[in-house]
Formats: sequence, C-alpha cells, structure tokens
Amino acid sequence: MAEFGKVAVIGAGVMGAGIAAHVANAGVPVLLLDIVPDGADNRNTLADTAVARMKKADPAPFMSPRAAKLVETGNLEDDLDKLGEVDWIIEAIVERSDIKRDLYAKIDGVRRPDAAVSSNTSTIPLATLTDGLSDAFRRAFMITHFFNPPRYMRLMELVTGPATEPEIAAKVADFADRRLGKSVITAKDSPGFIANRLGVTWIQLAVGQAVEQGLTVEEADAVIGRPFGIPKTGVFGLLDLVGLDLMPHVGASLAAALPEGDAFHTSRRELPLVERMIAEGYTGRKGKGGFYRLN
Ligand code: NAD
Repeated sequence: MAEFGKVAVIGAGVMGAGIAAHVANAGVPVLLLDIVPDGADNRNTLADTAVARMKKADPAPFMSPRAAKLVETGNLEDDLDKLGEVDWIIEAIVERSDIKRDLYAKIDGVRRPDAAVSSNTSTIPLATLTDGLSDAFRRAFMITHFFNPPRYMRLMELVTGPATEPEIAAKVADFADRRLGKSVITAKDSPGFIANRLGVTWIQLAVGQAVEQGLTVEEADAVIGRPFGIPKTGVFGLLDLVGLDLMPHVGASLAAALPEGDAFHTSRRELPLVERMIAEGYTGRKGKGGFYRLN
C-alpha cells in the first residue's frame, strides 16, 4: 500500500486549491505553490487566498480548520527546492502546454527521483506535455485528471505514457483510491480522455440546442441534468462551477485534436449567449455569476 508523507500542488486556482484541500482533509500534509503576482507584498498571496477561500467556501467549507493547518503555502520563486521533500507533485496551472513544460523542467531539477509528478490537464495529450523532457522525468510522469469540485467528484482519470513506470503509477492510483476516495479509471492518451470526450460533446449540444434556442436552463436541466447523472448541479450548474470561460478553450482544443466526422464536430454550435456572458464577466461562480447563480 502506498503512503505519501507529503504532496505538493502547484497552481492555487479553482482546481489546485480544491485538490490541496481534499488531500489535506484526508490528513496528508500539502505544499501549495503558485506564482508571485506582480507587485504583491505577500509573495504567497495566491496560495494564501486559496486556503482562505477553501476554509469559507459556500455553502460548506471545502477544508476543515484542522486540515488547513496541514497546508503550507509558498511560491514558485522562493520555494521550488521544497518540492524535493514531497512524494507526489500535482500540477494544476493554466492549460498551456508551453507553460506546463517550462514548469516541469524546473521540477525535474529538484524533485526526489522516486517522486511521482502528474498534471491535472483536461485536454493536453501526455505526449505533448513530456516533449523534450528527460527520460527520468517521463518515468515519473502521468496525468491525474480530477474533476470539479475535487472534494465531491469521485472520478479520477489516470493516463500513463509508454515511459511511465508502472510502479509509480500504481502508487498514485492506490493512494487516490484509498486515501482520497477516488474511483480511478485508466484512460488512453487520447483527446479529452474519456469523460470530456463524451461530456463536452453533449454539454455543447445542451447549451447550443436547448438554451440558445429559448428553453430555460431549468427546463433543459430537468431532462439532461440530473437524469444524466450530474449530481446536484445539473449541466448548467456544472458549467457555473467549472467556469464558462473554459468552454471555448476546451472546445477549441478538442476540435483541433479530433478527426473530421467525429460526433464532437457535429455537436458544435455557435454560442452567442455564452460569448456575451463571458465578455461581461458572467463566467460562473468565479465571476459575477452564471446560468443559475448571481454572486
Ligand atoms: P485557474 O485559472 O483557476 O488556475 C490556474 C492557476 O495557474 C492560477 O492560480 C495561476 O496563478 C497559475 N499560473 C498561471 N500562470 C502560471 C505559471 N506561469 N506558472 C505557474 N502557475 C501559473 O485554472 P483551473 O481551472 O484550476 O485549471 C487548472 C488545470 O486544471 C488546467 O490544466 C485545467 O485544464 C485543469 N482542469 C480544470 C477543471 C475545471 O473545472 N476548472 C477541471 C479539470 C481539470
């Protein structure tokens, strides 16, 4: 059985904060790092703000006060060396392969040789992420795709590459299963893996076909939300949670990767309502509001 004494999460945004909170709730110490924003007095401000947000998230806190004590915050400029103390490094930064690869090169210089490294990417193939990195890094690397919110969504997709050491991947899968309570499914290194390949296709249809054509979100969700197995939120509540601004990126990335004739392409619609909402800052919970919720 795999025991990880300490885990690092890099990126204290929507997903990184949620993953760090979930790991800490499981009683495992976490190092949470992010960049230093321009002109910040507190160099750990992004991670500190994330911890405060997780402690008072609405409607229930995502992290208990006891768990919050297990989270050490820091920044990538001053605290990179601390990554040498952890057993698993989870990257949850912006969905840009060039930025992720730059970070991996830095991580590779400081990580313990037996530490696992994984990305929370939703759409970038593993082969692209590891392009140009060392063989040793490729052996330790995999994708662990958590879903939003990490505390409540049980699914975790695990994607390994031809170079990934099976023993390291097995340790991560075992820890995610036993300590984090995840249902781990192994997915191929293919566009959108499993959940987004299927999910984004029908979410596009739901938004494009239903709401852009004049149904209310409640009417659409009554049929395609909970009955389709999206607990509590429905399709549109899920989009509020995930962030509407992510939709065009995920859509474009899948469109570029999938072959002509794939059902994904035929499900694509113009989404003027969504574009207007994003432009006006209605990006969901992290913005002024979303389909359901006005913050
Ligand atoms: P986010 O925008 O909320 O957070 C991204 C974080 O990356 C920010 O804290 C930002 O400061 C940091 N960052 C920006 N530039 C950086 C750099 N150069 N180096 C290091 N950190 C940098 O994004 P998110 O929604 O949390 O997504 C993070 C990852 O998780 C992405 O790969 C995304 O595809 C994936 N993901 C997102 C969701 C979701 O529902 N939002 C679900 C599953 C997977």
